[in-house]
Amino acid sequence: MRLTSNTMIDIPALSGINIDFGAYVDKMRRNDEAHRVNGIPDYAFSLDYKLREEIRKIPFFYSLSKRVAVQAEARQRQLLTAGAVLAGPNQFADLYDMTQDCAKRLGIGSPNLYILNNQALNAFTYASDTVTPTIVLYSGIVERMTPGELKCVIGHECGHVHNEHSVYMSIVDLLNGVFGSVGTLAQFLSASTVLLYRQWSRAAEITCDRAGMICADRVEDAISVNKKLAYGTFINREETLDLEDLRRQLDELSQTASVFTEVGSTHPASIRRVLASDAFSRCELLYEWRPELKKPGMVLETKEEVDAKCAKITALFKEQQGR
Ligand SMILES: [Zn+2]
Repeated sequence: MRLTSNTMIDIPALSGINIDFGAYVDKMRRNDEAHRVNGIPDYAFSLDYKLREEIRKIPFFYSLSKRVAVQAEARQRQLLTAGAVLAGPNQFADLYDMTQDCAKRLGIGSPNLYILNNQALNAFTYASDTVTPTIVLYSGIVERMTPGELKCVIGHECGHVHNEHSVYMSIVDLLNGVFGSVGTLAQFLSASTVLLYRQWSRAAEITCDRAGMICADRVEDAISVNKKLAYGTFINREETLDLEDLRRQLDELSQTASVFTEVGSTHPASIRRVLASDAFSRCELLYEWRPELKKPGMVLETKEEVDAKCAKITALFKEQQGR
């Protein structure tokens, strides 16, 4: 039986429920359009968008990035098929269900989810326009995060798909030598371009931490993921990090030369991510996506106010704070 747009199935038990596929697609499209600004998701960190626009101006790099993304995706898929396990309804069903939930929440197609035997606290995503996106969870992160936190991790990775980051991330991976070609590529890029890519990458991570919070069952889970990334997690104790102590640590970081260790990094220091997540937890936009998570008496801030706070939290140098 072929279902096409506007085809209705007459099933008595479902009478009264609209199962018109065309209407469903229409609703998804309208929902997606309602949550887009400048062609990207409305929750994206403004610096992510600004720096992406700068990258797009670099001659031929966008098209090169696209080609790299397609090839990297195919290569990674082969490696994962040989060395990892694909989650589905019959294995890792809980993680599979979380992935379906997150994809539905953000309005993207359901990605493949692989579990890779590696004890690091890590996860990553490959995507291109041509095939189903792939999310990889390391076994270490599955073992050491709670179910609620894992949903935020998966939501974060779905955020990379939703924001179409992979095209740009493929170049960041090349620069990091993931594909063993860093020497070749670096010869064509100026130092300032390399730093631009890495600065964009750090901003993109803030965007996806927000996606993780939008997909969360509890806002606190999204913040505790970043706390655990900061201290590493323990088997026999939970630790509650103090946000004021973290702010003092960030002040100290900003005033010393140790900030230079972050210049070449693709991810913001974890303490910055904790504080940026905390700022987004009070953003009115979060509760437009998830009104049911709003608590009585909450004082909310606009997206612009939260972006300005996050720009300060993530700026390595004073000159970058007002970007
Ligand atoms: Zn990420």
